[in-house]
Amino acid sequence: MSEQTETDRLAKWFADEWPEAVIEGSPVDNAIRVMTEFKMMKQIAKSFGAVIDDPTTPDHIRPNIREALDNYGKNRYPTGDFLRLVLSNDLAGAYGKADHHNIQTMPAIVSYVYNHIPSPSWGNPDKVRQWLAGRCNQCNGTGDKDGGVCPDCKGMGHK
Ligand SMILES: [Zn+2]
Repeated sequence: MSEQTETDRLAKWFADEWPEAVIEGSPVDNAIRVMTEFKMMKQIAKSFGAVIDDPTTPDHIRPNIREALDNYGKNRYPTGDFLRLVLSNDLAGAYGKADHHNIQTMPAIVSYVYNHIPSPSWGNPDKVRQWLAGRCNQCNGTGDKDGGVCPDCKGMGHK
């Protein structure tokens, strides 16, 4: 057993079994240093693992894409071609329109639609058309008209 491994093992033992015994300036100084490194490496490995293991987390989505999806779900704003194909459940078509970043974050985008966008608004091209057709012509779906509640849709954003 090498000295490094022995120290590492000792440090881990102190950390796990007897943390109150680690006193500054004591002969276990070296063990404390290795122990600290061991803990840091463990934390770094953990955070990298989280990024790799969960490709569906919304943080991966580019902000303008997320904003466009929120506006679609909330205000019935039309999206660009890429998101229209995602919402229509035409993923092959969507991949064809996606840029580099959207290809990489596709699992997160699809997961966001599934979990955060109203289900009547997506799933096939007809549902997307009908959702957009439900926009209020007066307020464009925002529910606001001249700084107040839209009189046409009473702030609901659709007819
Ligand atoms: Zn309105």
